[in-house]
Amino acid sequence: MTKDLPMNQVVPDRRVLRSLRLPGGTNEFPGAENERELPAPRPPPAYTIVRVTEDPDELLPQTLYAVGEGGHLWHVVLVCPCSCGATIALNLLPDDSPRWTLHEHPGGPTLSPSVWRTAGCKSHFILRRGEIIWCHGRAPGDVRDSEYR
Ligand SMILES: [Zn+2]
Repeated sequence: MTKDLPMNQVVPDRRVLRSLRLPGGTNEFPGAENERELPAPRPPPAYTIVRVTEDPDELLPQTLYAVGEGGHLWHVVLVCPCSCGATIALNLLPDDSPRWTLHEHPGGPTLSPSVWRTAGCKSHFILRRGEIIWCHGRAPGDVRDSEYR
């Protein structure tokens, strides 16, 4: 698919082309007026609770799996919201430590206290009413706005 290009030549980037305008002010790309140069980082969509009796084999993003039986929840499982792919399991049983509490609101689940991964990506976040709130304003390892792509 890529043709032989001279080494010093680069393939045009749409972002660059977007800024080019044809004579007369018309834009080269229809609809480009509505596009910004780069999309702003968007917070992930709201989390929803899925009740299961066993740990799921595959985790969907933006999903909080509440594992338990007969009205008792043992722990919750979710995939790390930083998109590193790690599975996070949080204990809900009062006799174990550390322990989280899960509240269900119309807007989504709330977990407290915050979740701080001590390994891997070291994500530190709060899940409040279905929304991830990063404790340091951004995801870990997020140099600029690269986290939600
Ligand atoms: Zn992560």
